[in-house]
Amino acid sequence: MAMPITVSSSETKDLLRMERVGTHSHIRGLGLDDKYEPRASSQGMVGQLKARKAAGITLAMIKAGKTPGRAILIAGPPSTGKTAIAMAMAQELGTDVPFTSLAASEIFSLEMSKTEALTQAFRRSIGVRIKEESELIEGEVVEIQIDRSLTGGSKTGKLTLKTTDMETIYDLGTKMIESLDKEKVMAGDVITIDKASGRITKLGRSFTRARDYDAMGSDTKFVQCPEGELQKRKEVVHTVSLHEIDVINSRTQGFLALFSGDTGEIKQEVRDQINSKVAEWREEGKADIVPGVLFIDEVHMLDIECFSFLNRALEDDMAPIVIMASNRGVTNIRGTKYKAPHGIPADLRDRLTTISTSAYEEKDIRQILNIRCVEEDVEMSDDAKDVLTRIGVETSLRYSIHLITAANLVSRKRKATIVDVQDIKRVYSLFLDEKRSVQYMKDYEDQYMY
Ligand code: ATP
Repeated sequence: MAMPITVSSSETKDLLRMERVGTHSHIRGLGLDDKYEPRASSQGMVGQLKARKAAGITLAMIKAGKTPGRAILIAGPPSTGKTAIAMAMAQELGTDVPFTSLAASEIFSLEMSKTEALTQAFRRSIGVRIKEESELIEGEVVEIQIDRSLTGGSKTGKLTLKTTDMETIYDLGTKMIESLDKEKVMAGDVITIDKASGRITKLGRSFTRARDYDAMGSDTKFVQCPEGELQKRKEVVHTVSLHEIDVINSRTQGFLALFSGDTGEIKQEVRDQINSKVAEWREEGKADIVPGVLFIDEVHMLDIECFSFLNRALEDDMAPIVIMASNRGVTNIRGTKYKAPHGIPADLRDRLTTISTSAYEEKDIRQILNIRCVEEDVEMSDDAKDVLTRIGVETSLRYSIHLITAANLVSRKRKATIVDVQDIKRVYSLFLDEKRSVQYMKDYEDQYMY
């Protein structure tokens, strides 16, 4: 009789914890300062300074909406942080800018054609920021979109509507804007507007004073204002991807497909309709397009048809920025008999800006291993870290990172609290790195089946 499998609560906890500690979980951003200069070690990122700076500048262009249709290639040897840099870029973009990540091999499936899979990936990476207006309600806290031309920035602020007279709200807004030039109203300032004369006075930065003012029963209206424009109506902004709009409007798929992920192929006529609707919204000022980022790892796995699709898709004025990564040198262009750098045809290569990553120095490897130990809650002696760093230099960063978890398990088995040299040695002998596994295959070649 089969035994039912039970999991104790402590095991459950461990499993959840294991899941949280993904290979890139320590990456929280690119670790740059205001001038896009990379800090030696920041936000989980170490070394690879040039590539991080280039990624930061690219991000600034994406944020300024200056990169539709651009494609970037992150090229470099295995385990040099290409995926880590792409993940860091995603973290820095924030939630409003769509980021889609896929391995090139994922687009080959029986369920949909390659070009459909790529089209969906493209449309997942294009955001539509939809603006809806709703009436202001007295006493409500409203988000204010700051007018760039007034502040030179693009922040949002909060404003509490404190007037009891709804009619004057629009009036107040206009006056606040007028006052900006003269009085330089800043975020958090409290201003008063005299209803009779329309004169605007700045009370200072304390809202309590304004509240006192109110308590006095003054006829003056006041607002705590951000540095910018009070919009006449509250604007509710939300961003959805073009793909989500497609799925919701596709009669054969329907809205539930969004949750199951089982969207199947979407008809071109649905997409055409959505495109013209979105174009209409843009013209009416009801929506903006937010070109996001599509990250394609192992780009050499794409074939010639996919590359030709990419070339055309990048021409579209709504195209997201496409970041590709490859660890291949000159290799076959899939689907042809020709070879090319990274397996990418010349016409697409011509569009690419390349960011290159290079092999790590010993001190960087040591630092990354340190960060991973903290991330995985593993205590390790300095000697063990020295050995692991050497292994990282001789083999690969990824291999040495993987040994942390294994060595930790082995040390726990011998009831130790700290991972020591012996644990590293043990797992090094148990799990082969790439070089040794090739050697092993050579040594025992005749014992394998062909
Ligand atoms: P491949 O070509 O094999 O796909 P890759 O270049 O994409 O490799 P990553 O997967 O990004 O390499 O890096 C391997 C591991 O090292 C990951 O756990 C990653 O988070 C970490 N890592 C790589 N570079 C850095 C870095 N500069 N700072 C911190 N961690 C890094």
